Amino acid sequence: MTSHVFGRSSAARPVAVRGEGCFIFDRDGKAYLDGSGGAAVSCLGHSDPDVRAAVHGQLDDLAFAHTGFFTSDAAETLSDLLIEHAPAGIDRAYLLSGGSEAVEAALKLARQYFLEIGEPGRHRVIARRQSYHGNTLGALAAGGNAWRREKYAPMLVETTHIEPCFEYRYRDDAESSPAYGQRAANALEDEIQRLGPDSVMAFIAEPVVGATAGAVPAVESYFKRIREICDKYGVLLILDEVMCGMGRTGTLFACEQDGISPDIVTIAKGLGAGYMPIGAMLCSDTIYDAIANGSGSFQHGHTYHGHPLAAAAGAAVLKAILDRDLLTRVKAQGALLAEMLDSRFGQHPHIGDLRGRGLFRGIELVADRADKTCFDPARKIHLKVKAAAMQEGLICYPAGGTVDGKHGDHVLLAPPYIISDDELEMLVTRLGRAIDTAIA
Ligand code: PMP
Repeated sequence: MTSHVFGRSSAARPVAVRGEGCFIFDRDGKAYLDGSGGAAVSCLGHSDPDVRAAVHGQLDDLAFAHTGFFTSDAAETLSDLLIEHAPAGIDRAYLLSGGSEAVEAALKLARQYFLEIGEPGRHRVIARRQSYHGNTLGALAAGGNAWRREKYAPMLVETTHIEPCFEYRYRDDAESSPAYGQRAANALEDEIQRLGPDSVMAFIAEPVVGATAGAVPAVESYFKRIREICDKYGVLLILDEVMCGMGRTGTLFACEQDGISPDIVTIAKGLGAGYMPIGAMLCSDTIYDAIANGSGSFQHGHTYHGHPLAAAAGAAVLKAILDRDLLTRVKAQGALLAEMLDSRFGQHPHIGDLRGRGLFRGIELVADRADKTCFDPARKIHLKVKAAAMQEGLICYPAGGTVDGKHGDHVLLAPPYIISDDELEMLVTRLGRAIDTAIA
């Protein structure tokens, strides 16, 4: 078959034809265990009956009504549910079509907020190295990997990047303490002062860093201090929970575990759970009111934002997570997966670190476990593991792959919340074989 799909990979890929539970089937009938939910997307697995029914029902009633003219029951229901369960102080929801769009909207909202309150000088964003916020221009500017931004510079959004603060005992043993979390957060204060407090509009971070680092949470107390610094300087705190949100880490929002609330939070991936493309940006009433009482409307909007079908899927996914008590399940299955990974890989000569929260787990691959050297980046071990896993019938997400000699190859696991004990066993067995094949 000649493929006219204009995509990210020229490598031949199997043709996916069907999904059921934790498996995707290709055209030849081969089953792939979805060990990473694609990229932390399919949190309910494939072919969930409730989400299918909700989307079919919405399709029968109404597929589309432009938000310039209408709202819809689906969009209202989803927004209400999100706000009801959002961190304290988050009062408004704005529905979009994906993660990058949500981040883009968050950055624009922050900028418009400061224009509305008469602080037009605040336009700079501070973000973190080793982060990913999406592929549109604003989101790319915020992302921490310089090589992704390079060819598009100068960026429209002026962003500088500080070091992240990882709970990373393998390499930073002495540094994984609450005191370190506070010290690391002070890098934000230094950067705000360096740039001039009146020029900074927002700090953006992923509570648990996904694609660039492989499920690394922050050291305890880091985000509490970050919150204090943002408050002190009137800088908006944007948390990007596109990957780690929607229950992935065991709480609906990952930041609940850090004990803080942001001013703006973005979600996507698990919100549509793969059934529909959807994202959302949620914010405080303070921000919303400044705009409502100022120019009157947020200067954003895409044709498909608030799409009824997508909103119906999102509402069904969120209801499923809440009504089926899946957060409890994420914690239990996450603990079991961590245990299994530890017993299979805890002493493996090429596994340096195992970490994560809930069903969001990262595995660091190293050339030498004892001296902590990374593999030669040219070997692209994380991509080889992905390929070998596909041969084994396992989908796992290759993360990291940066070349600073410290953050090398990682594999990210983010299976559906419904994954059974036997399927977790299968995941770890297949992953072990794939890792050994890739490294051999
Ligand atoms: N933010 C984070 C933290 C992400 O992981 C991603 C996607 N990997 C995005 C934003 C962008 O989301 P999308 O691919 O849906 O545009």
